[in-house]
Amino acid sequence: MLNLVLFGPPGAGKGTQADFLIEKFKLIHLSTGDLLRSQIAAKTEMGIEAKSYMDRGFLAPDWIVISMIKSILQENVNANGYIFDGFPRTVEQAWALDVLLEEMGTPVSGMLCLIVDKDELIKRILLRGITSGRPDDQDVSIIENRIHIYNEKTLPLTNYYSAQNKYFKIDGMGSVEEIAHRLIDTVSKL
Ligand code: AMP
Repeated sequence: MLNLVLFGPPGAGKGTQADFLIEKFKLIHLSTGDLLRSQIAAKTEMGIEAKSYMDRGFLAPDWIVISMIKSILQENVNANGYIFDGFPRTVEQAWALDVLLEEMGTPVSGMLCLIVDKDELIKRILLRGITSGRPDDQDVSIIENRIHIYNEKTLPLTNYYSAQNKYFKIDGMGSVEEIAHRLIDTVSKL
């Protein structure tokens, strides 16, 4: 199985780039942001709890995202592989992912980290906010908080994957196609 962690700050283009990787390597896309928004739309208990964090730009509780990921992995044991988009975002989530994949007899193949300037991130998110309608995409202070939380809680994960020689830095500036090419090139060598 090819199990990719697509990593990077909010607005780095993870969702857009995931589409190219899915098409090329026939992977299942697992975006915790999308899964949480579906839970919110369905007004489930998990969705209602997660919404209060997401609307303010904070991370949803680990137990919610881990249990969502767990049920999808258990439903798709024969997949070609997965692309984890926006997950893991904390060290606890990375540990949980390792345990879940170990139970399936397959490890994380690589962590691809998109590097994008902060000004460009804010520009991209505000632009997306016009069409996404997401409350967390429309307010600069919430966007700044999301970037701050990324730097504080999520960025340390690069050390976790780097220690396992699974960390790959990808220049996330440039055209969508250029970035996709860089990603595909790196994944092809895994
Ligand atoms: P995203 O669509 O990846 O930008 O995520 C939007 C929001 O969903 C984030 O700002 C968090 O509040 C929440 N979220 C998404 N993925 C996770 C995760 N792995 N852990 C905790 N919260 C998450």
